[in-house]
Formats: sequence, structure tokens, C-alpha cells
Amino acid sequence: MPTYSEKTLQEWKTDPLIRDAIALDETTWFNPDTLPFADAMKHIALSKADVEDAAARLERFRPYIEKVFPETQRAQGLIESPLRRIPNMQNAMASYFNMTLSGELLLKCDSHLPISGSIKARGGIYEVLNHAESLACGTGLLSLSDDYSKLDSATFRQFFSNYTIAVGSTGNLGLSIGIMSAQLGFSVSVHMSADARQWKKDMLRSKGVNVIEYDSDYSLAVAEGRKQAKGDPSCHFIDDENSITLFMGYAVAADRLKKQLTEANITVDAEHPLFVYLPCGVGGGPGGVAFGLKLAFGDNVHCFFAEPTHSPAMLIGLHTGLHDAVSVQDVGIDNRTVADGLAVGRPSGFVGKTLQHLIDGAFTVSDETMFELLALLADTEDIWMEPSALAGMSGIARVQHNEEYLHLHGLQDYMTTATHIAWGTGGSMVPREEMQKYYEAGCKLRDIS
Ligand SMILES: *Cc1c(COP(=O)(O)O)cnc(C)c1O
Repeated sequence: MPTYSEKTLQEWKTDPLIRDAIALDETTWFNPDTLPFADAMKHIALSKADVEDAAARLERFRPYIEKVFPETQRAQGLIESPLRRIPNMQNAMASYFNMTLSGELLLKCDSHLPISGSIKARGGIYEVLNHAESLACGTGLLSLSDDYSKLDSATFRQFFSNYTIAVGSTGNLGLSIGIMSAQLGFSVSVHMSADARQWKKDMLRSKGVNVIEYDSDYSLAVAEGRKQAKGDPSCHFIDDENSITLFMGYAVAADRLKKQLTEANITVDAEHPLFVYLPCGVGGGPGGVAFGLKLAFGDNVHCFFAEPTHSPAMLIGLHTGLHDAVSVQDVGIDNRTVADGLAVGRPSGFVGKTLQHLIDGAFTVSDETMFELLALLADTEDIWMEPSALAGMSGIARVQHNEEYLHLHGLQDYMTTATHIAWGTGGSMVPREEMQKYYEAGCKLRDIS
């Protein structure tokens, strides 16, 4: 068998899965290299202690978050989202896909996370807080045992105004980092790719954030941001492609989800497997959550990445083993999708390599399917999300009728007792008129099909 590196990109283009991807067909990849959790962890330099450290830091910041973001008051400064049962959507999807969908489907509503309305309110905000803490503690202005609500003061804002934070983004990461950084008093620059929606740039500018716009895609916006930050020692560049800090901010979600499942009387064990479908852009958000979920549930959780057919960066990176050495453009795919949160052509090498033995698979979804499911979710459950957030919804249909995958993992007898979670990654801050357009596009497509 040829090793990955012996196969050229030209040879990969004749691989059946890559051919489907190039044809922009919806496709599913099941990872042939999964290892039992304990064995996979031997290849990974990160541990549960890293996630616990991040969770403890977010605890310390709760009094501050509660004070400056009143919408978090009810949760005492915890930035968390609801987990919802969506039986009407599950029924409607059974008709939509024309198949039985057994087990129970739930929706994790990161679309409704406070502060920035997307999954980026986990990792993005966490990395800004981490940086602020490290600067303030470094000069003795703050100590770990303090009440962090003291950060909401002219003294601290003055202190942070000497430092800059920079980031490259398709929109939502910029939104999270811009809002959080500006609130603390940092000077902040957000490098936006062409995919970024106008309302996100407008909102950031209204908060005093320096928004720099590019005509090109995400990878270039990141590269430019990185380059500009490099010459400035007072500038911290938040590296969406490689940041372990961001990753840990996302991973904290898992233990909180575990608590929500317990509160909902949902069991997760070998006879009650949990499947989680995560919309994936560069990989940090879904990768961090998946890593946390494996730490929390071990081999009883099965995680899948979901990507647009026009941006299957992680699927191609994982399947070829080339990770960040290959982009979708390299195989002739355009990276143009309505799912702006997922419009990434080159995956994070750090995430792909970290999860290569833990992730169960990846699948692609067309823009049309995302629109149609967006409208279906609005009609059946009155939950409104952006197109990217619907990418994971098809997961339940992809996984439970794949006999080969189920047999390989001994799951075939447990599908009626399984729980499926679609991770709804964004949307509550989308302006009403824009959401209405998404919805109408979905309704129109459903009428045709
Ligand atoms: C950023 C984003 C994702 C994926 O996160 P990555 O870290 O880029 O993989 C998914 N959904 C939405 C709405 C996003 O904004």
C-alpha cells in the first residue's frame, strides 16, 4: 500500500471520494484510522488538565462577564447555550430524506450563545480573556484570586489600550474577538475575508474596531493579519489555524453539555451511543469541541465534521493525510458557499493531525440543503439559524443507514437508543431582513424539489 506521501495530488484526483468532492456531490467519509480513545490519546500532546485549566479561567472571569454583558446575568456570567429537543424537525427530516430516523435528535443552540451569537463566543472570547489575564497578572495589576469585575474600570481599559489584538476571519471570529477586545479596552484589528457579511463589519466599526477588508478568501486574510502583527511586539495575533488556546476554549463546551444531558435524563454509554455533528470551517471550533467530547465520553461519543460541498477542506485534508498541505483550490474546488462561517479552503493542520485517530468522519452538504433545512427548522421548531449552522443537521441521516460503519464499530444494535446532536453554530445576531432572505431561499428550493 502506498503511504500518503507517495501518492501525488494528481493520483488523489482519481480517488472515488475526491472525485465526488470535485464533482461537488454530497459525500461522506468514514475514518478508517480511528483508534480506541485511550490509544488515540497516546498520540496527542494535549490532556484533560489543559481543558480544566481553560474552564477554571472562564470561572474566574464570570463576575466580569456578568457585569459587562447583562445578557449573561441569568447564568451568572457563564457563556453557555441551550440544548433543545427538536422532535418536529426530526419527523420533518424523515420525510425530507425519505428514511426512518431512529434515536433522538437534539440541537445544541450555539446560535444563541450570548455576546456574539455563534460558536466563536467560546474559543474567540476565551483567547482574548486568556491574553488579558496574562498581561494584567504579568504587571501585578491583577491576581488570580481577585474578583475580576475590577477589570471593568478606567484603570484596566487604559492599561489594555497599550496593546493590540489582531485576527483574520470570515466574520464570526472577528465579531467575537472584536466585541470582547473592545470591551476590555484593547486596540483591535480584524482582517475580514470577502465572505464576511456587511452587517458584521458595520457592527464592529460601531464599536471602534479597525476592520480591514480583503477581496480574497479566508487564508489570505489570515496571512495578511499575521504579517501585520509580526512587526509589532505589543500585538497579539489570534491564530485561528494553529491556536491551542482557542481550541481549549471550545473544548470546555463538552463538560457543560454532559451536565445538560444528565439534566435532560439522557444516558450516554455503550448501549446509548452519542453522535455529534459539527459544522467545520478551519477546524478549531468543531475540533476543540470534539476533543472535549472524547475526554468527557470516551468511546461512547462519535463525532463528525460537516462542510459545504464547495469547501470540503477538512474532509480532503483528513482523507488524503495531507492536512494543511492541500487546499480545495488545489483540486479545483472554488470555496464559494453561502455558508460564510465555513468558507475555508485550507484546513488547520494542527486540528487534523490532533484528531486523525479520534474523529469518526466528515461529510459534505450542498448550499441548497442548508437553505432547505434552515427553512424546515424555522417552520417546525421556530428556531432560526444561519446557513452554516445547518451543515450538521444531515448527519443523523448519513450515519444511521451506513451498515458498514455501524458494524465496524459494533453500533448496529444501538441505533434506536442513540442520541444525535446537531451543533447549531450561529445565527441569532443575523439581522431580520437577512434572515428572511435565507428563509425565503429555503422555501423556494423546497417548493421546487
Ligand atoms: C466558525 C464557524 C464554524 C466552524 O468553526 P471553525 O473553527 O472555523 O472550524 C461553524 N459555524 C459557524 C457559524 C462559524 O462561524
